[in-house]
Amino acid sequence: MDFSSLAAKYGTPLYVYDFDHFKSRYEELKEAFSGRKSLICYAVKANSNLSVIKLFANLGAGADCVSIGEVRRALMAGVPKYKIIFSGVGKRDDEIEEALKEDILFLNLESEAEMLRVEEIARKMDKKARISVRVNPDIDPRTHPYISTGLTENKFGVDIEIAKKMYAYAGKSTHLEPVGIHFHIGSQLTELEPIYEAAQKVSELLKALLALKIDIKFFDVGGGLGVIYDNEETIVPYDYAQAILSTLSGTDVTIVCEPGRFMTANGGYFLTKVLYEKTSKTKRFVIVDGAMNDLIRPTLYEAFHGVEVVGKESVKSKADIVGPICESGDFFAKDEELAETAHGDLVVIKSAGSYGFSMSSNYNTRPRAAEVAVEGGEDRMIRQRESFENLIALEKDFLK
Ligand SMILES: *Cc1c(COP(=O)(O)O)cnc(C)c1O
Repeated sequence: MDFSSLAAKYGTPLYVYDFDHFKSRYEELKEAFSGRKSLICYAVKANSNLSVIKLFANLGAGADCVSIGEVRRALMAGVPKYKIIFSGVGKRDDEIEEALKEDILFLNLESEAEMLRVEEIARKMDKKARISVRVNPDIDPRTHPYISTGLTENKFGVDIEIAKKMYAYAGKSTHLEPVGIHFHIGSQLTELEPIYEAAQKVSELLKALLALKIDIKFFDVGGGLGVIYDNEETIVPYDYAQAILSTLSGTDVTIVCEPGRFMTANGGYFLTKVLYEKTSKTKRFVIVDGAMNDLIRPTLYEAFHGVEVVGKESVKSKADIVGPICESGDFFAKDEELAETAHGDLVVIKSAGSYGFSMSSNYNTRPRAAEVAVEGGEDRMIRQRESFENLIALEKDFLK
């Protein structure tokens, strides 16, 4: 990929996405589940750009959404309503109502209280809400604590015993239709064993429900497949699929999975330009024009991203890459071997396609970066760079 031309054409900071890579990731995962009914619902929160969602929709993917805003994005990008799932621990009444009105595939419920809200809203609308319960299998996913979700100490899902009660209740309700069962134990999972154990536990519940004539059609295994940021060993999609399938013998459910990071992380690059270098008594700093408001993963999760100075192979020495924001946490890399840089040199931050732009903010009144897609050798803008005017649009009329 010609990063220098892209930076020259679109400016920096800039997100660049390799759509051909995104496509191949989808196809690799879909292929792993071949021979079984499966639906890959792209987790929109990883990278919510409409053109990204549309790319996956065109390949046949559905969407896993965690707000009504994401549901609207999915619909707008062309995801059929019967392939849209709405998850999340805290859905508002208006969000539930709109999801029911749009008649999406199902809502993933995360508490008994939420189930009763959904039933009440469906009753008022004279509808039958298709639902699934997110089971917390209490399994340690062995990932970073901030992205672990499948332990009882995490806020997500309900214990298996409560899930059973919920299904029994929903099975009798005239306004609820239990169609799915769901778990999602964490993100950036690099070991297969916890996923297998979770699938095993939840498949036992599935089989118990089927025996009770509760007609579960979808076995939703969540997302979480890890990717390579540094030198991690990751899970091979084929092994992942086999592990899950091995727990489902004798059933005819459709497998749903909700990958986010797996689909878009490695095909995304964040381009930023060097402003200055400086050295203190103990450190070398490379100060760039991108910042933690653009890509917060290093700060938030102590995440590692590979970095490279484009076209520079000179002698390297250790440096921190930092942004202009007034926070010590504003960094992309610490103590990385980096070539000597000059003003205007281009730095590429790798594997930035997931939880990059979608977690960006306007902190320090910094307009968000532009986003560009590269597909079949052609590049095109898929989101304009924000302007100062965009940032103040909702405030300026209130100036007194
Ligand atoms: C975040 C999330 C996903 C996607 O996670 P990845 O690690 O990006 O694959 C899938 N399902 C649910 C319910 C989520 O919250």
